[in-house]
Amino acid sequence: MITNTTRRFWFLLLSSFAFLVRYRYFNRYFWIPLLILAIGFIWPQEMIIPVKGATTNAWAKDSFWAYPWGTSVTHKGIDIFAERGTAVIAATSGLVVYTFEGGKGGKSVMVLGPKWRFHYYAHLDEVNSFPLQPVRYGTVLGTVGDTGNAKGKPPHLHYAITTPFPYLNLRDDKAVQGWKKMFHLNPDKWLRP
Ligand SMILES: [Zn+2]
Repeated sequence: MITNTTRRFWFLLLSSFAFLVRYRYFNRYFWIPLLILAIGFIWPQEMIIPVKGATTNAWAKDSFWAYPWGTSVTHKGIDIFAERGTAVIAATSGLVVYTFEGGKGGKSVMVLGPKWRFHYYAHLDEVNSFPLQPVRYGTVLGTVGDTGNAKGKPPHLHYAITTPFPYLNLRDDKAVQGWKKMFHLNPDKWLRP
């Protein structure tokens, strides 16, 4: 499907409902996952630029969905440039889902934020957060670097937001891979005043 995170999210959600349906004793707890889902959607999203001291000049306005973009085809996030070692901070409050090292993102952190949106921070030089860590916007997650496929390029933070619940209105038939815009949100929309 879309991203590994979206796939895992739906797997977990559907299997927890399947569990509640399958075991009659637990049927009465059906409201728990529904309540958790509702709280996630109600949770207000306050967002800040996820690189300490950075301004809107630190990334290009058309960074999102830039094409062509190597093996990714389109650029599904924004690249926020800063000196190596600058603090990468959480853009929203949330929960660290995982930290990872390897692949295109190099050292990366995934945070589940308000509205069931997943915030991805990649190419970090150092990771200073851990799985299941609750964060507030501004909490340090790591530092800007050039790990993964950013090696040899100027250090920057690749920041991307995905949603497992598609926004049908964001489908863009004119863009390359335009249907994927239902699942990949443009951070620029919230970060530019
Ligand atoms: Zn990028």
